[in-house]
Amino acid sequence: PLTIEVRDLVVRHGEDRAPALDGVSLTLGPGRRVALVGPSGAGKSTLLAVLMRLIDPESGTVVLRGADGTAVPLSAMTPESVRERVTGLTQDPYVFQTTLRDNLRLAGPSAGDEELARAVRRARLDRWVERTGWDTQLGEDGRTVSGGQLQRLALARALLYDPEVLLLDEPAESLDEPTADALMADLLDATHGRTTLLVTHRLHGLDQVDEILVLEQGRITQRGTHAALLAAP
Ligand code: ADP
Ligand code: ADP
Repeated sequence: PLTIEVRDLVVRHGEDRAPALDGVSLTLGPGRRVALVGPSGAGKSTLLAVLMRLIDPESGTVVLRGADGTAVPLSAMTPESVRERVTGLTQDPYVFQTTLRDNLRLAGPSAGDEELARAVRRARLDRWVERTGWDTQLGEDGRTVSGGQLQRLALARALLYDPEVLLLDEPAESLDEPTADALMADLLDATHGRTTLLVTHRLHGLDQVDEILVLEQGRITQRGTHAALLAAP
């Protein structure tokens, strides 16, 4: 899996505004799961948007380092190549107004050999159906599924890319407690072996991540393990 190295990021949403990210540096180690917490407006979504290359920073760098040591700056990658390595899950996933099967068909790598890409997508989908037992639901209309199922659909779509990096932006935010707990357990399962950054308001389950970062007003103000942060005065 990839290591992501973020150095001195500054992002401003408009010239006259205070920076949304004000010198953020962090390293997401290979296969490590890191949670990002902090108040609304702290810059969490902005950081994820930079990591997905949806917005470019005013200054600072993001470097993807492979297991073999090769380092590629995000700024040198095409959106397509970023998408296949770094996949994000948003709070409110969009759904095409068609069946779940079609929603899944529309995701996954398409670059290169058409036929190969299709075979890869089908194999990943089959494996996913096998794990989740979702085969009977694939014909359901995407518009009728519940919030929890919608997030699972989004997760399945993300996993069709088999990304090395998963970015999760408050995936359980709009769900009730039991649904949120079940979804978070699935998400943590799916992040196994992938470098993961999880934005969350939920403290529940954070004992399972490797590190917690606290972002406030565009700066990282605390970092540590769950145990260390809870022990802090
Ligand atoms: P969080 O995800 O922690 O709630 P955001 O990254 O969404 O924080 O927002 C950080 C700051 O940047 C906030 O002050 C917010 O109002 C501002 N902001 C975020 N997105 C935009 C945007 N597209 N245009 C203008 N300002 C934005
Ligand atoms: P490994 O980490 O050895 O690659 P896993 O058994 O964790 O293997 O995953 C195998 C494949 O199954 C992955 O490529 C992924 O796409 C998919 N997968 C993993 N976890 C989930 C999950 N919770 N839901 C759906 N698909 C998953």
